Amino acid sequence: MRAECREATTLIHPDPQHVLSFDREGRLYTFYDDGILYKRALDSTLHWRRRAPGGPRERGVLDPEEALEVFAHVHAYARRAARELQGGCAERAAREIVPWTPGRLAAERERFSAIYRPIAILPPDQYFAIVVQATEGCTWNKCTFCSFYQGRPFHAKTPEQLRVHAEAVRDFLGRQLLLRRGVFLADGNALALSRSRLLPIFEAVREVFPGREIYGFVDLYSGERHDPADWGELARLGLERVYVGMETGHDELLVFLNKPGSARELEAFVRELKGAGVSVGLIVMVGVGGRNYREAHARATLEALARMPLDRRDLVYLSPFVEHPDSAYARERAAAGLTPMDWGEIEAETARLAAEVRRLGVRAARYDIREFIY
Ligand code: SF4
Repeated sequence: MRAECREATTLIHPDPQHVLSFDREGRLYTFYDDGILYKRALDSTLHWRRRAPGGPRERGVLDPEEALEVFAHVHAYARRAARELQGGCAERAAREIVPWTPGRLAAERERFSAIYRPIAILPPDQYFAIVVQATEGCTWNKCTFCSFYQGRPFHAKTPEQLRVHAEAVRDFLGRQLLLRRGVFLADGNALALSRSRLLPIFEAVREVFPGREIYGFVDLYSGERHDPADWGELARLGLERVYVGMETGHDELLVFLNKPGSARELEAFVRELKGAGVSVGLIVMVGVGGRNYREAHARATLEALARMPLDRRDLVYLSPFVEHPDSAYARERAAAGLTPMDWGEIEAETARLAAEVRRLGVRAARYDIREFIY
């Protein structure tokens, strides 16, 4: 039995087949159990992942009863650590981790639900952000492929509600804040709010989480409605990067997806953001439009990216497209006679596009929405 007592985490290694990590509140974060990696989301949902030798990566989510069993194993390891370790790590295990009985850890679900609506998605570099839900839903909510905010009408918190929410988030995370970085303003389109509504939100966030950079999504349609000077003002208040679902640089395909905007409009918007000192994260869906659009989508997207003033602060995410069978996209794709790309083709295309984006001198990364956990 070994342990590492770090500033932001505690790691326990009972034996070579098992590793457990905890936040400084003592709550489980990850548990490597002989080939299976469990990750606990903040609402105590337990996600698992494993790769059989030579096989594909498998993943899933345990039901609450199964999760309780895993929490019981974790608790047994924590009690053993408190007994068998020496010195400060034994004391930390006893003081911080052992009080989290399986039932108490599972009950984090209720605490989470009292503060948050489900967090639908974040960009991968924001999985360690502090999420502040300034709005709920998306102002547009009509892209045919998107199911993130279905059934969730757009709603913005008042400045008072926002402050109460941000303080509740701070208290809920507690010393897990040591692990977390900037603040991500959720949901899908928080930065679409007008300047007069955004300024008090930024003020409250800066007061509750001083010194943290601020991030958020915006869709092109809403982003363009801001005065260019607004972005400069938000940048001075801590806005570091804005994430835009570009999806494709191919305008005809964008219309097919029922997403407003065009490649030229996005290019102008990116210039505006960059001119204001805000970096961008552009998300491109790889495989959307199927084999029929593969070449045209890739060419138009790369051409659009090449025209933008992107630099090393920016990011292009290549997101392998996951078609939901009951989505409007699936129906319209079938009606239009478009042939979907298989997973192998999508993966190969993702790697090819990432290499092409890097040739433009811009950082590129894979963005698998199925790996999202908050
Ligand atoms: S703008 Fe973004 S969040 Fe809103 S429906 Fe389209 S893809 Fe979904």
